[in-house]
Amino acid sequence: MQLDRTGILLVDQNDGTIKYKIAKVVGFNENNGISLVQDNFLTRYLEKTQKPLVRDELQIIAKDLSNAHERQNFFQLSENMKRIEASLCLPMVISSKLIGIIVLGSKMSGDAYTNEDLTLLNTLSKQAAIAVDNARLYKEVQDFSQTLQDKVDEQTKEIRGQKEKIEKAYAIEKHAHEELKQLDEAKTQFMLVTQHHLRTPLSVNMGFLDLLLKNHYGKLSAKIKRIVLRLSDSTLKEIKVVNELLDVSSYQLGKEIMHLEPEVDIEALLEETLKDLRVEAEKKGIYLKFENQGSVPNISADKTRLKLALTNIIDNCVKYTKAGGVTVTLKTEDDKLLILVKDTGIGISKELISSLFNKTFRRGEQAQKMFAVGKGVGLFLSGKIIESHRGRIWAESAGEDKGSAFYIELPVRAQSQY
Ligand code: ADP
Repeated sequence: MQLDRTGILLVDQNDGTIKYKIAKVVGFNENNGISLVQDNFLTRYLEKTQKPLVRDELQIIAKDLSNAHERQNFFQLSENMKRIEASLCLPMVISSKLIGIIVLGSKMSGDAYTNEDLTLLNTLSKQAAIAVDNARLYKEVQDFSQTLQDKVDEQTKEIRGQKEKIEKAYAIEKHAHEELKQLDEAKTQFMLVTQHHLRTPLSVNMGFLDLLLKNHYGKLSAKIKRIVLRLSDSTLKEIKVVNELLDVSSYQLGKEIMHLEPEVDIEALLEETLKDLRVEAEKKGIYLKFENQGSVPNISADKTRLKLALTNIIDNCVKYTKAGGVTVTLKTEDDKLLILVKDTGIGISKELISSLFNKTFRRGEQAQKMFAVGKGVGLFLSGKIIESHRGRIWAESAGEDKGSAFYIELPVRAQSQY
């Protein structure tokens, strides 16, 4: 349009009060541009009309106004525009809000603005408003992304800090765990040595007691014989306990202690075990039954240790049953030999059942009430012995006073693998 000057004022939205900043001026003095919007009258007028304001029309509008104050405002605006040589103000409106004003001077040709000019400028100012608003939104999104990035960076830093702390705590815990493990091994080693040293004199005692009983040192009187028999009986029991504890320590240290025989008759082994325990069951007035469901093949086993495992389990069933009794069943299932020991006793709680075969010295409350002192290693050892035979052992119980059942599975084939 060949204008002599032009300027764009944008509303600065940073705080609640309306402020303008000069976005661009050509020909105008910057301060003059700002002076136009100082009293807010122009802003309110453009926001209301949303149309281009032509300076020459201001005088005409003002003349028709009855309100003196209003009239004064129009005159004042007209004067201001004249002073800075502005001819036209175009509103930039978005959603009925004024976001800026385009101020134009005169055409260099000296001609007035035509109606077509005004229509064109009106369209232009509307599009400019949309463009400016989009640019603002874009900047807001960019600022927001930056804020988000800053937050993410901050949190990443925090997480990194936490990770370092966790890693440190983990290292301390690992170290403590190693120390505990070493202490535990040292304790087991100590027990192993102590038990060895206990067993030697006990075996020597047993040897001498045997010689005494065989009249090696002269014939014993009936009274002395009775005493020596009791001594030998309790020494034998003590040797058994020490042997059991020695086995437990060995298993805890991962030592191999099995002495396998190729053809062990499990049925005979069970009969033998039950014979030893029947006396105790009869004393308590409970039954101890053996049910053999068909013939079973011989298997490779450490006879002494397997008998010890079976004794521990069946003995427990007799021990923890007050009425009713214990049934032992033997059968083959596919390529497995299954021994089931079932009692009608005090039952086992869920908590205890899960750690029955992998922890030592854990005893049920009821069991402690019945027998204040127990070895607390019987089932641990039985479990290890069965595992060493590549078998499986587990227990089931419906709960307190609902009886218990122990299942032992031993492989029949693949014996050559041992
Ligand atoms: P001990 O019998 O010397 O306490 P064990 O290792 O043989 O040690 O058994 C561990 C615990 O398992 C027992 O104290 C008892 O609480 C529980 N238990 C074992 N067998 C039975 C059973 N047949 N009925 C009920 N509880 C049992």
